[in-house]
Amino acid sequence: MNKDIIHCLECNKILRKTDHDNAPIFVFDKNLNDFISVPKDDYKDFTIEHKGHHLRELSVLEDSSISKMSCRDKAQVGYFKATNGKKVFLIKKWRNNINEPLHYKIMEDSRLKVKNVKVTCQADLIRIHLKKQFVWMDNGKIERFVEIAAHSVEKMDLSAMEECFWDTGDSMVVLAKLGFQEIREILRECQKFLTWVQLKSIRDFIEENNCDNGVMTVIVHKKMRIERFNLRGIRHKRKIIFNS
Ligand SMILES: [Zn+2]
Repeated sequence: MNKDIIHCLECNKILRKTDHDNAPIFVFDKNLNDFISVPKDDYKDFTIEHKGHHLRELSVLEDSSISKMSCRDKAQVGYFKATNGKKVFLIKKWRNNINEPLHYKIMEDSRLKVKNVKVTCQADLIRIHLKKQFVWMDNGKIERFVEIAAHSVEKMDLSAMEECFWDTGDSMVVLAKLGFQEIREILRECQKFLTWVQLKSIRDFIEENNCDNGVMTVIVHKKMRIERFNLRGIRHKRKIIFNS
């Protein structure tokens, strides 16, 4: 594992080593009326600033990063985990505005907890695809199908979702597959107003679109919170940090 974090225990400051650590920065020189490059080495600067201090190296745990960009102020907050081989640390990263470098802070005795809080069907996309694919499906039948699907999805077990698509542009929103129970319930209700041939087409439609970002997959909204523990390992504080 790469030791990509240096933590000064005395100042509680963190440096995350990156490929850009010694890339020059460009500043405007008034006398020359032009931008000039200034050499910079973050790693060297950090080791000089914290010379003689108690430093520890940590490795970032793969796939442990979760972040959210605020569209309003372009500020970014994220969390990831790193380890010294014995203990796992939760690290917060943020920048207050787009021009600022990232700041890092170790969240002592804290744990991230992500929970599914709401699930909905992709009603509008289902309508569009049904209309395009089945000429025999009039608006009445489409609406009835969407209503049945929405009703079935509402009752899904939030703790047992089979996630299948994550690239939604929001780390607190993923897509998940309809379960066997839901598909069975939807088909059972559809029997009431579809012929056997139509029912078979709908069954195929559900199966074909119930993976990746297919229209029959469901939208899962998540909430993330940080739980803080005291020295005896008892949880004493909870704070919701991300919401979908
Ligand atoms: Zn220091």
